[in-house]
Amino acid sequence: MIEIKNYINGKLVAPEKGNYLDNIDPALGSVYSKIPSSDGVDVEQAVSAAKKAFPSWSKLSNQKRYEYLNRIADIIDQNIDKLAAAESLDNGKPLWLATKVDIPRASSNFRFFATAILHFASESHEMREEAINYTLRHPIGVVGCISPWNLPLYLFTWKIAPALAAGNCVVAKPSEVTPMTAYLLSEICIEAGLPPGVLNIVHGLGQNVGEELVKHPQVKAISFTGGTQTGKKIASIAAPMFKKLSLELGGKNPNIIFNDCDYDLALKTSVISSFSNQGQICLCGSRIFIQKDIYDTFKNDFVTKVQRMKVGDPKEDTTRVGALVSEAHMNKVLEHIQIAKEEGGNVLCGGERVIVDGRCKDGYFVAPTVIEGLAATCQTNMQEIFGPVVTLIPFETEEEVLEYANCVDYGLSATIWTQDLNKATRMSNQIEAGIVWINCWLLRDLRTPFGGVKSSGVGREGGWDALRFFTEPKNVCIKYLP
Ligand code: NAD
Repeated sequence: MIEIKNYINGKLVAPEKGNYLDNIDPALGSVYSKIPSSDGVDVEQAVSAAKKAFPSWSKLSNQKRYEYLNRIADIIDQNIDKLAAAESLDNGKPLWLATKVDIPRASSNFRFFATAILHFASESHEMREEAINYTLRHPIGVVGCISPWNLPLYLFTWKIAPALAAGNCVVAKPSEVTPMTAYLLSEICIEAGLPPGVLNIVHGLGQNVGEELVKHPQVKAISFTGGTQTGKKIASIAAPMFKKLSLELGGKNPNIIFNDCDYDLALKTSVISSFSNQGQICLCGSRIFIQKDIYDTFKNDFVTKVQRMKVGDPKEDTTRVGALVSEAHMNKVLEHIQIAKEEGGNVLCGGERVIVDGRCKDGYFVAPTVIEGLAATCQTNMQEIFGPVVTLIPFETEEEVLEYANCVDYGLSATIWTQDLNKATRMSNQIEAGIVWINCWLLRDLRTPFGGVKSSGVGREGGWDALRFFTEPKNVCIKYLP
């Protein structure tokens, strides 16, 4: 059985106290590896290694850091099959998805920020004939990166890459539910010759490792992606310490389909935006609003397509819906479906656990579920489920659907389907979300600001936003002397 190790000061090490957690293959429902159950002692070692590495890493030229990050990206690419297999096994997602999306995106994250730091510039502001201001952007020091289980290596590297590119040293904590590719990343960093202490990866539970990292006085910034409740807890600890905070939290995103949409594209994409990664993407459109004239047709076509999606072994190419990440999460999703029924929802398809034949018979599978007949303001439509469950809600006017879209606490993303550009811009101006997709979904340019409003988070990742987050500005004003 594989025993995962922490990566501290350039070495793979066991947790100081020798405690381990079970790591479960969710498609089989059985333990397949051991994860360090680290604590404050391990975090302390990681922070002190990062602190020691900071002076020389931060003084390296951007070109040199670019070379290190690109080397890491190269080794990720060379190991794509191994990493994709590990990601699929750890998370339950289809292997083809991990191969096509998760792992290529992890290497793109390193390549993108390796290059970005070569182009990153700060500003100068001249006060005519009197003075010139120039703004320096220095790395912060030791920063903490905490990530969730849904897109394990993809989101882990999305934080680590800009932090390192900007000259910081990092202590990173992957989700204890999906630690394997973070462990493989530590091996890759060793192979790439990354100097000891520049990146440290400490495995373990959120309340032990994550919270110790957030509390640590030498950790000057925290970049967190995960649930809204955890985000609140982190903010309550970090804010009084005046730490820089980036919080990427939950979503309950509207997918709005107008009568005048490109019907086939809206239909096809809505199936993907509902159930990709078993609906476990913060950007999934879990509330589908359909304009009245096309409601019945869309509903029937949508349900027909969803019923054809194969729920099954993540290793099979034909599988469209893999396993949910854990038994606890599967039970949570099933409870939400039960609540939807109690609220008067009509389950059009799915609604239950699926027992898959063969080796996956004990795995955590839930059929893609479509529910109609619920008010926009009921619990099912207000709370994040984060699983393969969507609701269909009819609407008549733009005003009505805007009210529905904005009535939740969340504000991460929204999708709008219409061929009327005026309507699309009117809607996107008024919708409360950090990201709006018109006639597409999850089309990502890594330069754009990524993040949410309301309970979906604070701050933005991506492009210059990430590099600004991971640097501290200092303005220098020089008076022109006569
Ligand atoms: P989670 O909040 O339970 O855990 C996220 C990470 O935080 C894990 O590494 C966990 O160990 C750690 N953690 C838990 N408690 C902590 C504490 N007290 N202090 C510090 N760290 C702690 O979230 P999850 O279940 O892993 O992920 C699912 C959630 O993530 C969903 O709500 C989803 O919407 C959200 N998410 C958001 C985005 C985004 O970009 N906005 C992207 C992906 C997922």
